[in-house]
Amino acid sequence: MILFGRKDKLLATREIPEELCESCGERGGIVSIFQIYYHVAKIPFFPLSRRAASQCYSCRKVKVKKDFSNQQRMVSKLLKKETKTPLWTMIGSCLILICLVLNYLIRLI
Ligand SMILES: [Zn+2]
Repeated sequence: MILFGRKDKLLATREIPEELCESCGERGGIVSIFQIYYHVAKIPFFPLSRRAASQCYSCRKVKVKKDFSNQQRMVSKLLKKETKTPLWTMIGSCLILICLVLNYLIRLI
């Protein structure tokens, strides 16, 4: 059983119908933004980065940001601007912070 590690969650997807796939020559694909976060026992602890990836509709080839075309780069930039790091990725660290504060307050009384 994996107790801690990195996970990703899909945040947003945008279709690019006219995007030409360089591996199969067909048109159409998507660009998606993923939130990478660190988890302990499946509880999200803190957010790492947001990553972009694209996929072709026909051959399902996945590309990462460094291989993006200009249009894919533009769309991923836009999507990154529209999406924010979700607050739930900090649940674990917030719980620990609350425990620390409560512990401190109890000692004061
Ligand atoms: Zn393709």
